[in-house]
Amino acid sequence: MGRIIAIANQKGGVGKTTTAVNLAACLAAADRKVALVDLDPQGNATQGLGTDKNAADHTLYDVMVNDSPVLEAVRPTEVENLSILPSNRDLVGAEVELMGLDRREFFLKECITPLHDLFDYVFIDCPPSLSLLTVNGLVAAEGVIIPLQCEYYALEGLSELLQTVIRIRDNLNPGLSVLGVLLTMYQHTNLSRQVVDDVREHLGNKVFQTIIPRNVTLSEAPSFGKPVIYYDLKSAGAQAYLALAREVISRG
Ligand code: ATP
Ligand code: MG
Repeated sequence: MGRIIAIANQKGGVGKTTTAVNLAACLAAADRKVALVDLDPQGNATQGLGTDKNAADHTLYDVMVNDSPVLEAVRPTEVENLSILPSNRDLVGAEVELMGLDRREFFLKECITPLHDLFDYVFIDCPPSLSLLTVNGLVAAEGVIIPLQCEYYALEGLSELLQTVIRIRDNLNPGLSVLGVLLTMYQHTNLSRQVVDDVREHLGNKVFQTIIPRNVTLSEAPSFGKPVIYYDLKSAGAQAYLALAREVISRG
């Protein structure tokens, strides 16, 4: 049975998608079968893996709203062992259409059940909000990875997110746990070091040992539709995500 891991933080631009795409690709390179579910109408993960988000025959919207079979929507990428369940702006509509329905928090979970047996890891790239879509992501997941940018306001919003995780665990998904907090965009500055110290002091062993540096290669790779290990393997960004993949495997 595969592990289903949501990557979530309602703060925008903290490295959720970069982490989803690159961690997924590193695990695929380690011979794990991996699927990435793009739960963000921005479709950044879809594009970051070289898929034209507006040309896909079936997207996550069709699966969640129009009963399209999930296995018709999941498609291979150019990366061996890595598949994508693509999304585009249409997914905004899912939010509206699910709103009035019974069990509206469980739609994603029910849709992606067939992936459980086919993949070793299923990652869910959440949008930057605590919307119904994100709730669906957290209800479908067993673990959540929370990227935090090494900036002054890093911890802002974290307690609200952790409250949400607890509320979902208590009411909707008893199996949910925080797999780890991931520090991203680290720079060799006093501020970054201070943020690392603060976050480790508050969250202890919930923080991954691996820290993702700010590295321009990570921001360039998506425009080539490639995970960073296929764009510049030697870069600090690629090496950091490989280390993170090892840590995720060792945390089980
Ligand atoms: P959103 O909330 O909009 O979904 P996000 O949390 O998914 O954003 P990303 O899209 O991964 O964040 O990253 C935001 C921007 O920062 C992107 O342009 C990305 O290329 C860049 N970026 C992410 N991580 C790094 C890094 N470690 N070094 C340099 N640039 C990075
Ligand atoms: Mg994103």
